[in-house]
Amino acid sequence: MSARIIDGRAVAAALRAEVAARAAATGCTPGLVVVLVGDDPASAVYVRNKDRAAREAGFAVRTVRLPATTGEAALLGTIAALNADPAVDGILVQLPLPGAIRTGAVIEAIDPAKDVDGFHPLNVGRLARGEAALVPCTPRGVMRLLAASEVALRGARALVLGRSAIGGRPLAALLTAADATVTLAHSQSRDLPAECRRAEIVIAATGRAGMVRGDWIAPGAVVIDVGINRDAEGRLCGDVAYAECVGHAGAITPVPGGVGPMTIACLLENTLVAAIARRGVQKSEQRPARSQSP
Ligand code: NAP
Repeated sequence: MSARIIDGRAVAAALRAEVAARAAATGCTPGLVVVLVGDDPASAVYVRNKDRAAREAGFAVRTVRLPATTGEAALLGTIAALNADPAVDGILVQLPLPGAIRTGAVIEAIDPAKDVDGFHPLNVGRLARGEAALVPCTPRGVMRLLAASEVALRGARALVLGRSAIGGRPLAALLTAADATVTLAHSQSRDLPAECRRAEIVIAATGRAGMVRGDWIAPGAVVIDVGINRDAEGRLCGDVAYAECVGHAGAITPVPGGVGPMTIACLLENTLVAAIARRGVQKSEQRPARSQSP
């Protein structure tokens, strides 16, 4: 058996087009501001990609670049100004921040209604309670991929590997809201191969290159690989040993070209959701967390 390959690039392109069309149909030009502190080269690339995708979707986007010497008080001042600016619907502070700045304090300073990364404790709490919330972009992207691939979630046994605040934890909450039976595993879990073999859906978000092996996968299981790592030869790879698992799984995401492209598409979707909610247009487009987790 060879798995169906879930094409994240195609699903992300369709979602970006859908978001642009919905924005145009509501007559709303969402305003997104990305804040970049310092000159980390990887962060600069991520910010450029976000800026370009938002521009292509017709959003009003700008990047606020602050020097690496920026102090916490100055950054909090910038965020306060963006919170107060009615033209700004979404604020994204690119992480990581330079060492002296407390990331938690910065995230908590963002207006939760403009928190398009979904990291503010209010949005985290709402998601945990199964209420409508701005949801972190990568987990939201995973749920979109599962929906686009018509994976049945109700009652399905789903295993999430990794419990980080941006990955595994929100994913487990979204899958729970979608009626899956969820196991959240981590570095202290016992017998991961056995946990995996029981699962109909395996989602790997550990940052450990190729740790999920072919014989961990039940025949026909759906395998979603969130990991973005480099192998010993420096090539991009996921947390799943793809060449082994593709022969066991029913459907699988590749790396690259799986979950990765969904993250920016879901950032655009979050920004549109925030814009519609803030501006009070087409309230019917706001959906509770349960249906936001397709
Ligand atoms: P992280 O903060 O380092 O968290 C990793 C999680 O995996 C932790 O909960 C850790 O367990 C668990 N873990 C580590 N080794 C494990 C093992 N051997 N067995 C079981 N669990 C293990 O990482 P992250 O930020 O969530 O990122 C995870 C991966 O996703 C990375 O490759 C990252 O690059 C990728 N990522 C991709 C996107 C995207 O757009 N596609 C976005 C974000 C992240 P403990 O809690 O017990 O330490």
